[in-house]
Amino acid sequence: MIPRGRIRSLAERETAAGGYIVYWMQRSQRAECNHALEYAIARGNALGLPVIVGFGLTDDYPEANERHYAFMLEGLRETEATLHRRGIKLVARQGAPDRVANGLCEDAALLVCDRGYLRHEKEWRRSVADSVACPVVEVETDVVVPVDVVARKAEYGARTIRPKLMRAIDEYLHPVPATKPSRSSLDLALAGDVDLGDIDSTLRCLALDRTVGRVAAFCGGRAAGIDLLDAFIARGLDAYAEKRSEPTGGVVSRLSPYLHFGQISPLEVALAAREAATAATGYASFLDELVVRRELAINFVEHEPRYDSYEAMPDWARRTLRAHAEDPRPALYTDEQLETAATDDPYWNAAMTEMRLTGYMHNHMRMYWGKQILAWTGDPAAAFRRTLALNNRWLLDGRDANSFANVGWIFGLHDRPWPERAVFGTVRTMTAGGLRRKCVIDDYLAVVAGLAREAAEAGA
Ligand SMILES: Cc1cc2nc3c(=O)[nH]c(=O)nc-3n(C[C@H](O)[C@H](O)[C@H](O)COP(=O)(O)OP(=O)(O)OC[C@H]3O[C@@H](n4cnc5c(N)ncnc54)[C@H](O)[C@@H]3O)c2cc1C
Repeated sequence: MIPRGRIRSLAERETAAGGYIVYWMQRSQRAECNHALEYAIARGNALGLPVIVGFGLTDDYPEANERHYAFMLEGLRETEATLHRRGIKLVARQGAPDRVANGLCEDAALLVCDRGYLRHEKEWRRSVADSVACPVVEVETDVVVPVDVVARKAEYGARTIRPKLMRAIDEYLHPVPATKPSRSSLDLALAGDVDLGDIDSTLRCLALDRTVGRVAAFCGGRAAGIDLLDAFIARGLDAYAEKRSEPTGGVVSRLSPYLHFGQISPLEVALAAREAATAATGYASFLDELVVRRELAINFVEHEPRYDSYEAMPDWARRTLRAHAEDPRPALYTDEQLETAATDDPYWNAAMTEMRLTGYMHNHMRMYWGKQILAWTGDPAAAFRRTLALNNRWLLDGRDANSFANVGWIFGLHDRPWPERAVFGTVRTMTAGGLRRKCVIDDYLAVVAGLAREAAEAGA
């Protein structure tokens, strides 16, 4: 039974006289722990119809590059195989997701979709709901607590959303049972045109930005995500509260790319952590990041239409940054110097190098990294744009609700005023001295130097 709070109708129509149900998979790219898929199967079983899963592969996805696509296709290949084992056909076609979904609905009795929060994701769903002839139902599956249950407006920060999430969490923190489809869709005459068995040639067929290449540090797909989750549960969770700010502490999960592409569900991550935690503080601290911070970010993009713009930063923060816009900067770097990790700050360069080589960066370094870009740019609005652009270009988890909200945090979003300083005004600063005090930063430099050496040897 899917909780009602996760379900909403996008187009109320009589169930059409179609031959199958379509689950249009867009954000939640997995065959397990997926409320939208299970809802589609339950509706299919009730109507005696098979379910197909449709996926539209566009090479036009905002800010995506070869790094992102390769990771996503690795995940989809696994999802296709798992769906096949469940008797469900994945029909992946090249094209804009809304057009592909539309094309699959000609003989559909019902279209089910997952929920996305970014502008283009909402537009795709709206366009499909307006154009197909069958009813359209959206089922939300990439949050622990449904966004509309938490709040109908943008929250000020973690302190205001936390009690709302914690009040509702027990109602939603439950496993998603898998339902067996009563009819297989494997023999349906609906063909895809994307070969997920051959990712290299599929990548070659797409018109992509290839200047940001694949990474060896992460392999896309649910199995790799579950391996990371298991390792985190075994070695990280109980020490998370104490050591999560240490970039080489080895206690964070590294699950953000898998969460971004919906290859793993935040619900199953939270359930696994609850089940395994022996230190209550570790579980509470992890939940505060996975649920409170992550769902605060989703609340922000859901309710703030300008989520990718400096204009969405709080008034107090823009006012104080404007007042300090003429302060002398410690340094001014070009985009190229930033992009190639060629500043005079070894910590910042290491962070940027980690991001370039692995598609990932530890949270503490992300905070430091972003704060320095603000310090090194004359105009705060330009600093916002260049931070977001680098974030979304190099990180595998970039272009996420978390990207917009956390780059926003650098500029005062979801934060409060701090004692006044040069350049930052009352926006919080982070300094190299602070890094040295709080982390074993030399270990981090050594780890990144090792990564750079390996990359140079592999390229040689
Ligand atoms: C400047 C800046 C930019 C960031 N850009 C991104 C981004 O593009 N994509 C992204 O997913 N996260 C971003 N974050 C948030 C956070 O740094 C990452 O989610 C986290 O480091 C991912 O590593 P992990 O999976 O090992 O995290 P863990 O510590 O293992 O946490 C588990 C999960 O909780 C969530 N989480 C953890 N910390 C945060 C946080 N501060 N805010 C929201 N959710 C959190 C993530 O989904 C994460 O995967 C950014 C933070 C900053 C300060």
